[in-house]
Amino acid sequence: IQATFIPLLDDEKKVNGGLIVLTDITELRKLETVRNDFVANVSHELRTPLTSMVGYLDTLLESNIQDPETRDRFLKIIKEETDRLSILIKDLLNLSKIESKSFDLKVDNFEEILNKVVNLLKKNAEDKDIKLKVEIADELPPVYMVREQIKQVLINLIDNAIKYTPEGGKIKINVEEEGDKVYFSVKDSGMGIPKADQERIFERFYRVDKARSRSLGGTGIGLSIVRNIIKQHGSNIQVKSREGVGSEFFFYLKSAK
Ligand code: ADP
Repeated sequence: IQATFIPLLDDEKKVNGGLIVLTDITELRKLETVRNDFVANVSHELRTPLTSMVGYLDTLLESNIQDPETRDRFLKIIKEETDRLSILIKDLLNLSKIESKSFDLKVDNFEEILNKVVNLLKKNAEDKDIKLKVEIADELPPVYMVREQIKQVLINLIDNAIKYTPEGGKIKINVEEEGDKVYFSVKDSGMGIPKADQERIFERFYRVDKARSRSLGGTGIGLSIVRNIIKQHGSNIQVKSREGVGSEFFFYLKSAK
C-alpha cells in the first residue's frame, strides 16, 4: 500500500487538515515483477544458444582442427543452435503480437482448419508410430474464431501431444457440440505432467523438464501462446493429466449457430 498525504490549507494558507490517499499497488508490483522476470528469462533463453555457438566458433577459429568430421560436427551444432534461435525469436514475436492486439472473431469452419492441421502433423505421428485418431461430431456448427490463431493453437497442442508421447503411443482428438459451445480435446498416452506443474506449464518459458523440451526443439512458449489466444476467444485452456498415463488438453469455442 502506498500512502500520499495532501495538505488542505485555510484562507491564510495554513494547514488545517489533510487528505490521505491510500493506493493498493500490489497489482502494479506484480506486473513489474512479471515484466522483470520475462526480460531475465528472454535474456537467458537467447544467451544459452549464443554461448554455445560462440564456443564452437572460437574453437573452430583458434584451434587448427584438420579433421573434417570434427569440423562438420561443430558446424552442425552451430547450425542447430541458429535454428533454435530463429524459432525462439519467431515464437516471441508471435506472443507479443497476440498479447498486444485484440482480434475480431469471425464465423468460421473449425472442422476444416482442424483437418488441415492434422494433415500437416500426420507425418510426425507416423514417424513415431503413434496412432492419431480424430473424431468429429456430425453436423458441427460454425464457430466464432480467428482462423490463423486457432490454427496456431491446434498446431501447438497436437505437436506437443506427439512430442511428449513415446513411440507406439496413441493420440485421440475429439470435437463435439454441447449447448452453444464446440468442445475440442486432444488426449495423449504420453509421459503426463506432475500435478504441481500443471498450472505452471502455461507460463512463458515454463517447462517440466528443460533438457527434454530443449532436445525436442521446444522453447517453452507454445502453451502461453495457446492460453493467450484461447482467452481472446472468451474461453479457457485446461489440462487433465496423470504422470506416466497421459495428458488431455481441452477448450471450447462459441458456436455461431
Ligand atoms: P515446449 O516448447 O517446451 O514444448 P510448451 O509451452 O508447449 O513448451 O509446453 C510447456 C511444457 O509443458 C513442456 O516443456 C512440457 O514439459 C509440458 N507439456 C506440454 N504438453 C505436454 C504433453 N502433451 N504431455 C506432457 N507434457 C507436456
